[in-house]
Amino acid sequence: MSRKNLVVIGNGMVGHRFIERTIAQGATEEWNIITFCEEPRLAYDRVNLSGFFSGKTAEDLSLVEPNSYQDVQVY
Ligand SMILES: Cc1cc2nc3c(=O)[nH]c(=O)nc-3n(C[C@H](O)[C@H](O)[C@H](O)COP(=O)(O)OP(=O)(O)OC[C@H]3O[C@@H](n4cnc5c(N)ncnc54)[C@H](O)[C@@H]3O)c2cc1C
Repeated sequence: MSRKNLVVIGNGMVGHRFIERTIAQGATEEWNIITFCEEPRLAYDRVNLSGFFSGKTAEDLSLVEPNSYQDVQVY
């Protein structure tokens, strides 16, 4: 059976959480997960965004572990 494509438009807090839950439920066995967003970076903690002005870096605020999407073939 051919793999199906799941396209998640927007990689904000909700889109990222949806992808995490979907992966945890084993979806990558059947689905290619594809996500994209308007911003030049993957999901970050917008709720704590103001911390950026008190020393937090983009890496600190990122919700996506380095390579975690690639490891499960989220494109
Ligand atoms: C300083 C600050 C404090 C906040 N505090 C709280 C809080 O305490 N509690 C709370 O519930 N919320 C808070 N919020 C709001 C919080 O940002 C949202 O609740 C949360 O980010 C919503 O997640 P989301 O994934 O729906 O949207 P977003 O995080 O905004 O993600 C939207 C995604 O869609 C993408 N996108 C948008 N338009 C397009 C397009 N045309 N094409 C492709 N991609 C697109 C964006 O690039 C982004 O990746 C706060 C926000 C800020 C800035």
